[in-house]
Amino acid sequence: MSINPNHFECHHCSKTFVRETAYYNHKCKIMEKQEGLKTLTGQCAFSCFKTWFMLKKRILPGDGSKAFIESKYYASFIKFAEFIKNLNLTDTDLYIQIVVEKDLPPVMWTNDLAYRYYLEYIDKKLSPLQQVDLSVNTLMKMADKMECDVPTALQKVGIIGLISLIRERKLSPWLLLKSSKFMQLLRNSSRDEQNQITDLIRPEYWQYNLTNSKYQSQLTQITKIVQELNI
Ligand SMILES: [Zn+2]
Repeated sequence: MSINPNHFECHHCSKTFVRETAYYNHKCKIMEKQEGLKTLTGQCAFSCFKTWFMLKKRILPGDGSKAFIESKYYASFIKFAEFIKNLNLTDTDLYIQIVVEKDLPPVMWTNDLAYRYYLEYIDKKLSPLQQVDLSVNTLMKMADKMECDVPTALQKVGIIGLISLIRERKLSPWLLLKSSKFMQLLRNSSRDEQNQITDLIRPEYWQYNLTNSKYQSQLTQITKIVQELNI
């Protein structure tokens, strides 16, 4: 804001005021956005905006905050930041990479179609080891949040929690089916829970995967990871 002998002017929107009190009480969209940028959601949205620019191979002037605040997608990025938080998305950069490849504008990043692309990508394009990486990431975050080790976290989440994590591709059968602690949880769960797992992880399909020679070297590594995690 600048002060001029005859009037007060907001340097964001150029609105002028005769009275000082009116000037100090003034709030405009740009000021609100600048305030928003200081919040965690705002920071996350801004970081996604920068990733988007980078993937589009475009250069942001300065630190990029001005371009972000003035972007027509500002609200979409804020919404996307909330979406990441609510879903507890495992790999935000991968998600942005996929929606950019699919040429979806930021306004569409939070809809079901975009999310389905993300899940399909994980299933079809990521190698077993990459899927296990996502799972390890999920387990570490869980243990961190619960302030315990990974095996205890697995126990605490329980079979119902694990079912949703598998559905969201945050935990992969590539890892779980090699885990003795998971198998034990499964044996101790109810018939209904076991049925849900069977629907989600088709055992005959996975039996084939886990014995397929083309995955042998990756499976050896997965076994090592499972041992290190002590699950
Ligand atoms: Zn203003």
